[in-house]
Amino acid sequence: MKIDQLPKVSLTQLKTPIEVLKNLTQKLNGPSLYIKRDDLTDLALGGNKTRKLEYLIGDAKQKRANTLITAGGIQSNHCRLTAAAACKTGLDCELVLAGSKAEKPNGNLLLDEIFGAKINWCERDQREATMNLVVERLQQEGKRPYMIPVGGSNEVGTVGYVAAMKELKEQIDAMNLTIDTIVVASSSGGTHAGLQLGAKLFGFDGTILGLSIDQVKIGVDSFLPVLAKIANATAERLESDIVFREDSFQLICDYLGDGYAIPGEMEREAIQLLSRLEGILLGPVYTARAMGGLIDLIRQGYFESNHNILFWHTGGVPELFAYNEWIC
Ligand SMILES: *Cc1c(COP(=O)(O)O)cnc(C)c1O
Repeated sequence: MKIDQLPKVSLTQLKTPIEVLKNLTQKLNGPSLYIKRDDLTDLALGGNKTRKLEYLIGDAKQKRANTLITAGGIQSNHCRLTAAAACKTGLDCELVLAGSKAEKPNGNLLLDEIFGAKINWCERDQREATMNLVVERLQQEGKRPYMIPVGGSNEVGTVGYVAAMKELKEQIDAMNLTIDTIVVASSSGGTHAGLQLGAKLFGFDGTILGLSIDQVKIGVDSFLPVLAKIANATAERLESDIVFREDSFQLICDYLGDGYAIPGEMEREAIQLLSRLEGILLGPVYTARAMGGLIDLIRQGYFESNHNILFWHTGGVPELFAYNEWIC
């Protein structure tokens, strides 16, 4: 089906703003920096999963489901936004979180509780199995479950970022702005894959550079096939015959630090620069890592100094409140 015909619910006002990072550009003395503010999607403190959930919940409603199930880490932004979106659209929500019950929930976990999601705890490598068990239990209880994969990165959710690229292209055309490179945090891959497919469909000629956040996928080689698979499945859903290969994607995996959700000095500097120069908050897990990587690439002279670089802010700001002891 064409993108405008796919089932969708509205969870946020769009478009999100594009801003100039004037002070940061000056400070780094490199390419001109812009930012796309998907941290300002207006559901429950924002983030990239909202665009995916518009299509995922559209599909769930069409299939007459009444309970969403998804999984993630203890501070998952995706789980927080799924819980919030379920409330807004009149669905129940069960989450499968890797870890164990915190005595005093904070950050995203606090918000999961506020939105009334039922939480099922498990080990990180048991997430898929636990989701399947929850689905079985819900069916036995007479509910109609709808399972959303980790990060919402299947061919249904990824459409949200195909549409986001259409939005960006319209915005920059109206601004008479050429963007040479988009830099985006990449983890489960749907955001990066959707933008790349959208670029092909809507004629964005710049580079889309993913910065990997998640150490589980070690090195470039192991993740590129996943990006191609997501993009191809999404292209098929949109009845496009575009075919992606592993070398259709630009992914850098050099900024994994001590592992997933373990921020270090690079992330700390990125949070400080963006807050104190621009009044913009980053989340320690995803966006501070990606911005830290971007800053390092600029310092290394990776980009031409007359280029325009757009950082796609994918949100994650509520993570800050779970990292208070690390920050101070
Ligand atoms: C999930 C997430 C990402 C990564 O998006 P994927 O589509 O999973 O690759 C980036 N930033 C934030 C804040 C996220 O929550």
